[in-house]
Amino acid sequence: MLQPKLLINGEFITTDNFVNVINPSNNQIIAQVPQINDPEAIHDVFYQAHQAFQTYSQTSMEYRINLLQAFANEISAHQNELADLLVLEIAKSPKDSLQEVLRTIDYMHETIAVYQEMINHPLSFSAQDLKTPNKTAVYHRVPYGVVLAISPFNYPLNLLMTKLAPALITGNTVVYKPATQGSLVGLKIAELAQKAQYPKGVINSLMTNARQNGVLLASNPYVRVMNFTGSPNVGHLLAKHTNNVHLILELGGKDPALVLDDADFDLASQEIIKGAFSYSGQRCTAIKRVLVSRQNHDLLVSKMLDQLKKVSVGLPADNPVVGPLISTQALEYNLKLIQDAQDKKATLLTPLKYELTNNLLYPVLIDGVNEKMRVAFEEPFGPILPILVYDDYDQAIKMINDSEFGLQASIFTKDMALAQTLAMQIDAGTININKASSRGPDILPFLGVKNSGFGVQGVKEALVSMTNFKGIVFNK
Ligand code: NAD
Repeated sequence: MLQPKLLINGEFITTDNFVNVINPSNNQIIAQVPQINDPEAIHDVFYQAHQAFQTYSQTSMEYRINLLQAFANEISAHQNELADLLVLEIAKSPKDSLQEVLRTIDYMHETIAVYQEMINHPLSFSAQDLKTPNKTAVYHRVPYGVVLAISPFNYPLNLLMTKLAPALITGNTVVYKPATQGSLVGLKIAELAQKAQYPKGVINSLMTNARQNGVLLASNPYVRVMNFTGSPNVGHLLAKHTNNVHLILELGGKDPALVLDDADFDLASQEIIKGAFSYSGQRCTAIKRVLVSRQNHDLLVSKMLDQLKKVSVGLPADNPVVGPLISTQALEYNLKLIQDAQDKKATLLTPLKYELTNNLLYPVLIDGVNEKMRVAFEEPFGPILPILVYDDYDQAIKMINDSEFGLQASIFTKDMALAQTLAMQIDAGTININKASSRGPDILPFLGVKNSGFGVQGVKEALVSMTNFKGIVFNK
């Protein structure tokens, strides 16, 4: 049984309260993680991070770059160990787990490069710009203070580091709370930060009973930035309790794949199946609904069924496309969505097969879906894909936009002008033409609208989000 510790103000500590981490592949308890649940002790963590900010924010850019580089080196030196933890606690395949670690290291390197560029080019205004003699101005980017970072289970390393790296390099201090499933990697990261010699109080790993204490975290007066990734209900609840805090919310999605009549149907079916089912659909940017015209419905369905034959299902060790869902609860939620669709006369194009002992749900294609079925508008976060039919493009766009979500969308067509026109009508952060939606490459801005989020991520935008302008106006 693993028993990791929390890093609080430079010390590794444990407590009398624990939460179990469960291996999703067999529902066995694999670790007990300490939690800090006492409100005063929670407050102290933020106070100490605030104290650490007073000195850390004054350190040089070179010092912080070197620290982040040392942190990246530690992650690199422990890449296999980190990947193994991902396999164990979130049932990601070894191949995808290692990929997540490597992508995280790349992200850190890109952050360093973009930060150097940003700092060396502050926003400056000449007297001519300002149309005033003897007046010039320069606007630097400065850190806010204590960043509260809360991350989800599905990319527990990557989505944690996309918060930590930009916060730390710019001079903020961080209190972070990983998801329970994902906390083994999350807490290991604190150990590696300590090895990289971050000063005490700069990085703090705080596990707590989030349902009970989440609002306490968000409303702590020392929090200056809250960067949350997770479900909309939790994100909105926390946002409501913040006070003059700079907010970044990365929330859910219901990304549609819109297949137009002139699409390359081989490409579309391949991308849709890959986009919907990799990591069992537990990705915010997974394709979560397909829209095809009535006349091309049968063609697309037959090609998707062909593609589906290539989707392997199994336990993580076999590097399957579809593996165990994160919990039995997640599996049961998916089954409920399927049942609701069947009750309302949808048809399953694949046999319904699942195993409660290891949380495996085999891929499900649901046909004849209409907007009254829950699966048409809820986010399953599982390997189920509804197919909806449209009669014309206006109707398709309306169906896409009649959603609480607006993360990404895909359009499949050979007509780039039409793609551009329709992309501009879709209410989502990013539209991918002839490709499944995805977060990367990480240098691109990443954002959602409506209930998919608030604020912008991506290497450069995250650095901007973690800093504020500090203007100095010179009058000679
Ligand atoms: P979740 O909302 O259950 O949990 C996210 C984090 O919030 C976890 O650390 C959890 O412990 C914590 N949490 C839960 N309840 C809380 C509370 N009351 N107060 C404070 N913290 C609380 O989400 P999840 O199941 O881990 O992840 C899946 C969700 O995340 C999906 O909706 C998915 O779309 C979304 N997601 C979005 C993105 C994106 O970039 N937009 C990326 C990944 C995941």
